[in-house]
Amino acid sequence: MIRTPIMIVGAGPTGLMLSSQLHRYGAPHTIVDTKPGITQLSKALAVQARTLEQYRQLGIAEAAINKGFIAKNVRFIVNGTIKATVPFGEIGAGLSPYPYLFILEQSQNEALLRDDIISKGGNIQWGSEVVEIGRSENGYTGLLKRSDGSQEPFHCQYLVGCGGANSPVRHFLQMPFQGKTNEQTFFVADITLEMELDKHGLLLVINNKEFLAFFPMSGTNQYRAIGILPQQVNGEDSLSFDLLKKHIEQNIGVRAKVTGHAWHSHYRVHHRIADSFQKGNAFLVGDAAHIHSPAGGQGMNTGLGDAVNLGWKLAAVINGWSETKILESYNEERRPFGVQLVHTTDQAFTIMVSRKWFPRFIRTRILPLGLATVLKFNALRRLMFKTISQTRIGYRNSSLSDGSRSGEIRSGDRFPWFQWNGGNSFDWLSGVGYVILRFGGKTERQVPGWTGPVQTIDVEGAAAKAALAAGLPSSGAVVVRPDMHVQTIVKH
Ligand SMILES: Cc1cc2nc3c(=O)[nH]c(=O)nc-3n(C[C@H](O)[C@H](O)[C@H](O)COP(=O)(O)OP(=O)(O)OC[C@H]3O[C@@H](n4cnc5c(N)ncnc54)[C@H](O)[C@@H]3O)c2cc1C
Repeated sequence: MIRTPIMIVGAGPTGLMLSSQLHRYGAPHTIVDTKPGITQLSKALAVQARTLEQYRQLGIAEAAINKGFIAKNVRFIVNGTIKATVPFGEIGAGLSPYPYLFILEQSQNEALLRDDIISKGGNIQWGSEVVEIGRSENGYTGLLKRSDGSQEPFHCQYLVGCGGANSPVRHFLQMPFQGKTNEQTFFVADITLEMELDKHGLLLVINNKEFLAFFPMSGTNQYRAIGILPQQVNGEDSLSFDLLKKHIEQNIGVRAKVTGHAWHSHYRVHHRIADSFQKGNAFLVGDAAHIHSPAGGQGMNTGLGDAVNLGWKLAAVINGWSETKILESYNEERRPFGVQLVHTTDQAFTIMVSRKWFPRFIRTRILPLGLATVLKFNALRRLMFKTISQTRIGYRNSSLSDGSRSGEIRSGDRFPWFQWNGGNSFDWLSGVGYVILRFGGKTERQVPGWTGPVQTIDVEGAAAKAALAAGLPSSGAVVVRPDMHVQTIVKH
């Protein structure tokens, strides 16, 4: 019988990040997954700046950067002509230490997180499927079926569903998962593509009828191709690669040859979100809580962000650093973002794939040149970066936020990144627990309701000047949460 304070069901990227966070705060837990190990498939490719910032706090950002690469530009091929090449490069310069769109496939992200867990003395129980879940007086019970055929019951106080779109925890909770399933069937294929254009950029092929996208992957001429399934095979169970190859070569619009492929699949895109991310002491995290189209490369990143948000709160409760009420802020903070994400990715998806005239007009006429124009304007470029990179996510309406502000920065916002000669603001946030930054004197400040670790830093000299320029107060204090969001700003 396993007795554990926290049972994490599922060790995809979300479950692995949650486990890694719990280890960081020294909170005991168990993590299980049916699979024999991390995924062998590339799956998600885009790693957003906010994820890299979170990796930095875990100490694994550098390893991630060494394994992946920056997407340099996006090219639009509209009805057979290259309409625009929009440089991405460092579109978020000054906003994040990672001001670009980074490519590192999901299997590599999972490997980094798995290794981080192991380096902290943890382990993942692979080959262990949760086949039953029930309630007990003080938590949840369940049954694990191991890959060798043996079975073991478990009991936990907190149950966390990280089991992906078909989450067994969500089914057990009978949590409605409302939304829709799109009509079109999408294909995805990791291919070797020889063509006349250079690599390291995204390629969007937009025709009146077809939509194809190619994302660069590591390795010579390796791309992820996605698109709508050709109508003649829509509805069939199996999809031959020869047919896909023909479809890609016929519709790409430039001279290109598909010379190999690692895997391909097809699926219907869902846009759905759970009615609540919490029920009692059970939580839904990642794809278990929200699923949407791959538009914008947000899925894996959002799951990782959910796990970072829940991780320190669960650890705080288990370690006796905070009242259990803090857990309610997980749903308050992450669900509104999930709702917005599912809605916007649904709209973006419709524009890219619909055969109706208006979406077609937008994608063939407005989008290619519109995006190039948007990126010429500093404010619009910054807004676009902040939105896609998830660095704009804030929790101003959370019960943990008190409405305090300094200039543009408000309680609940991501703590800003800025640098000065020899330092940068994120180095203050690399420890475990809350951080109190004191500006212009010794303001005494505590974190109400928190008995866990708190680090106090006096900000002076060049650092204080840079902080002032970034909108922080010249005199007073800023209390920063363990997940690098501002909690309170005190100005004198
Ligand atoms: C082709 C493709 C491209 C994508 N591109 C991107 C992208 O560019 N950027 C992006 O951010 N996202 C992308 N995504 C989405 C991304 O892959 C998912 O959002 C991400 O995998 C979700 O992670 P998760 O850990 O929440 O769920 P999953 O990765 O689905 O992991 C769930 C885990 O739970 C385990 N599990 C399930 N049931 C049980 C059980 N009963 N007992 C024990 N274990 C169980 C499963 O074995 C699995 O390992 C893409 C997805 C696909 C398929």
